[in-house]
Amino acid sequence: MTVALAVAAVVLDVEGTTAPIAFVHDVLFPYAAARLDEFVAARGAEPAVAAALATLAAERAADREVAAPDLIAYARALMARDRKSTGLKALQGLIWHDGYLAGALRGELYADVGPAFVAWRAAGVTIASYSSGSIAAQRLIYAHSDRGDLTAHLAAYFDTTTGPKQAPASYAAIATALALPPARIAFVSDVVAELAAAAAAGMHAVLSVRPGNAPVAPGHGYPTIGTLDELALRPA
Ligand SMILES: [Mg+2]
Repeated sequence: MTVALAVAAVVLDVEGTTAPIAFVHDVLFPYAAARLDEFVAARGAEPAVAAALATLAAERAADREVAAPDLIAYARALMARDRKSTGLKALQGLIWHDGYLAGALRGELYADVGPAFVAWRAAGVTIASYSSGSIAAQRLIYAHSDRGDLTAHLAAYFDTTTGPKQAPASYAAIATALALPPARIAFVSDVVAELAAAAAAGMHAVLSVRPGNAPVAPGHGYPTIGTLDELALRPA
């Protein structure tokens, strides 16, 4: 159904909203897992890789739930749990970066994403991305996508360095970063708990229902779209 909103900006989740969950779980995650040991051994001394490893080591030191004999084993344990770990996401992003540049990876986006971006920007609406995947990983998906390079449409990217996606404070911080009141921002995601957090912060929350998304229990009360072109935005 069409959902019409008057907003100045729209913030989009990636997995289950602009990209199929299967692309992330069946392509990206296995790609990083298969190259983890070799990548860390070969590139661990590079500043960006060392920084990601240091973040991961700090998370491991504070982790009371997951114990592992070394940092690589810890990374694998987090992968198995799909933990939204900032250190792991940074490391995965660096591995994917090489894959995208080598042409071994290409971002898989839904066909309606590009046309919706064009329409919203033509209407004067700012577009931003918010995902548990690192900002670098988000840029890569949009820059090296099967729909071309869509990064020109995106004004800002947010990840777990802003805060977890199920915390209202994260959405308040995003509104501050966009210099807009939350009431002038729409947030689209496939996860109701994320919508609840965004709504608690005062944003307009819209549910994305895509093939392959986890089923959502009825009664959530959020307006629902099946494709991004069902979201009609006009500036407010
Ligand atoms: Mg999602």
